[in-house]
This record gives sequence, structure tokens and C-alpha cells, in this order.
Amino acid sequence: MKFIAAVTVVTSIAATIQGAAFQMRERPEVTVCMDRNADSTIFGAQAIASRIYDRIGIPIHWSRRTPECTAARNSIVVDLLDETPPTQHPGSLAVSAPFQGKDIVLYYDRVRAMGRNESSILLGYVLAHEIAHIARGIIRHSDEGILKSHWDGRDRSSMRGTVLHFTEEDIDLIRRGLDCGYEFPQGCKEARPARSVRSKID
Ligand SMILES: [Zn+2]
Repeated sequence: MKFIAAVTVVTSIAATIQGAAFQMRERPEVTVCMDRNADSTIFGAQAIASRIYDRIGIPIHWSRRTPECTAARNSIVVDLLDETPPTQHPGSLAVSAPFQGKDIVLYYDRVRAMGRNESSILLGYVLAHEIAHIARGIIRHSDEGILKSHWDGRDRSSMRGTVLHFTEEDIDLIRRGLDCGYEFPQGCKEARPARSVRSKID
């Protein structure tokens, strides 16, 4: 009887440890290094992007672009452009190249021009989209949801109601990318393309 009890305790501890490890794998997190947090549009956009990722169990930590932040594991660096040259990826609101690094270049002037008084909403979804590219380590777009290559009027309407989501497959790929550590793709190579492609939202 005592022996059985001891086995039960050991099994219970083992299950707890496994559960903790499982939870760690299931709850990856992302740190985004991005300046100008005092800008109300950006602040609002960060809140929207955070809510999107909270829904899929991935907390986003927003930080200033310090050397510590950019060097951190699973951090993503966002560059904001205010005067984007017309020849730079015409029509795009942001670009990222997961296979070349962890940088997102955000064409902030274009987002504000397109989003007008809803710039925070649009920017929040642009951030969510590009963060997903980096986290997944691949550029491929989806037919529906946040990772569509081109958002139409219906998608913009869904953004206002905060009902534009990631697909289940996208969520799985984002989690797997973060689990592997997208900056350190050892063990995840099979999930990655042989070459980089730039993403585009327009
Ligand atoms: Zn894209």
C-alpha cells in the first residue's frame, strides 16, 4: 500500500513537471523592440496587436529599441519610416524578410494615409501580420484572416469589430516557430523555405 502510494506521488510529480514543460511550450512569448511608444496611434496599435496574440496564448512584450532588446531571444525589431520613398515596395504597408533577420520595416506614413482616423486599428493588424511572418519563419500567406496578402473592405470591416483572426494553421505555425526559436532554426529547418521572399500588404 505504501509502495503504491509512493508510486502515485512520483507519478504525480512527473506529471506536474511534464505539465509545466508542456505549458512552457504552449505559451511562447515575443518581445517587440519598437520606439515611439508615446505616439498615441502606435500605443493603440500595440494594444490591438497584443489582444490578437493574447487570444492565441502568446503574450507580446513591447520594449524600446535598446541593445538588450534587439539581442534578446525571440525579439523582433520594428523600424518606422515616416517618409517612405515611392519606389520602395510601392503599395506595401510593411515588409519583413524572416530568412534575413528579425526586422520589420513599417511604412508608417502609408499606414496613416490609408488608415486615417482608424490608423491604430490598421497598424495593429499590420504589426500582427508581420510579427507572424517573423515568428513562423516563412512568408507564405493565407487565403483568409490576418495573414492574407491583400485585405479587402470586408477584412477592414472585420478589423473594426476585432473579428479578423489567424487561421488555425497559422496559429500552429506561429507557435511552432516560436517554440523552435525562430532565430535559431536548428531542428526546425524542414519548416523553412530555401530562400527568402519579401512580404507585402497593400
Ligand atoms: Zn505578408
